[in-house]
Amino acid sequence: MNLPPDYHMHTPLCRHAAGEPTQYAARAIQLGLAEIGFSDHSPMRRDDFDNWRMRFDQLDDYVERVRKARRDHPRLSIKLALEVDYLPGQEDWIRELAARHPWDYFIGSVHYVSSSWAIDDPSAISKWQGRDPFEVWSIYFDWLTKAAETRLFHIIGHADLPKKFGCIPKQDCTPLFTRMLAAAKGTGTAVELNTAGLRKPCREIYPSPAFLALAQAAQVPITFGSDAHAPDEVGADFTAAVQLARSCGYTHFLQFSARQCTATPLPGV
Ligand SMILES: [Zn+2]
Ligand SMILES: [Zn+2]
Repeated sequence: MNLPPDYHMHTPLCRHAAGEPTQYAARAIQLGLAEIGFSDHSPMRRDDFDNWRMRFDQLDDYVERVRKARRDHPRLSIKLALEVDYLPGQEDWIRELAARHPWDYFIGSVHYVSSSWAIDDPSAISKWQGRDPFEVWSIYFDWLTKAAETRLFHIIGHADLPKKFGCIPKQDCTPLFTRMLAAAKGTGTAVELNTAGLRKPCREIYPSPAFLALAQAAQVPITFGSDAHAPDEVGADFTAAVQLARSCGYTHFLQFSARQCTATPLPGV
């Protein structure tokens, strides 16, 4: 099967990934992928915000490493992107980042539900204790909805990330999902099928089949990402992701070039 592009891959500049972009590209060629995209964790305005992203003064180096991968593998289409953290109030900073390089797309991700708690950070897992999961998910989806409203992002990353460690609300989360999806539909923002969830305690692709069925009904387009933090994770579980997309009624995925999208038919399964 032809696999769709892997649009979510990291580099060692984020301090928790291994392998140079050219090695990820070599792995993609091995798998028969025709296109990939690097979307490493973007710098924050303040480099001391946390310790799991590139510093601002490394942004040019990041772009150069992606360009080296392009030079090394001229037959592979390699997109230049960032996974950008969305927190309310960051919009001007994100616009500044957007103006600095010829990005193909931005993935907008919410990891933080306050200025100091990234809900997916294994070293902060104890912060889930004593919290009502529904309250955390509500803040998360409120911010994710805002992210989708900004038009700063082309793709929303790992949309139901709060499930990572298995802290799932007892309440019905459908209203949280439909509100976010209405915002995404309104701005033409895609959601990604992110296979990293299969490698985490939740053991499920982000987002869930229920979320994805709502996304399809809302006509929100999709992309695919492995969230690779090492070359051997490129394209991981993409066959399962394509099957999931098809089972939810999707027939196409999006490709991005210079922030413009085209819809491509999903490969047969
Ligand atoms: Zn990461
Ligand atoms: Zn992420």
